Amino acid sequence: MINVRRIKKGDLVRLVTGKDRGKQGKILQVFPRQQRVVVENLNIMTKNVRARREREKGQRIHFAAPVQVSNVQLVCGKCGKLTRPAIKIVGDKKVRICAKCHEVL
Ligand SMILES: [Zn+2]
Repeated sequence: MINVRRIKKGDLVRLVTGKDRGKQGKILQVFPRQQRVVVENLNIMTKNVRARREREKGQRIHFAAPVQVSNVQLVCGKCGKLTRPAIKIVGDKKVRICAKCHEVL
């Protein structure tokens, strides 16, 4: 499982469960406390919004629902493999590297 703190907005991930299993998308939002992430175009839910006034029509809204971070795997932008981010100390900074190809993520 990926540590939620090692995941960032814009990371490419693959969903490992649910109806969108095997699909990839970019992370749009990270909720560290809930251990959840929102992935672009994945886990799309439909919400019916009722008309608030008489003349308005009800609407269906599609939105990407948050998924558990344990249900996604990071895809390395360099080698394209499923990977885990590892932390490397460079000088006094921590950088994330791909566990497979050791490139900086
Ligand atoms: Zn890599």
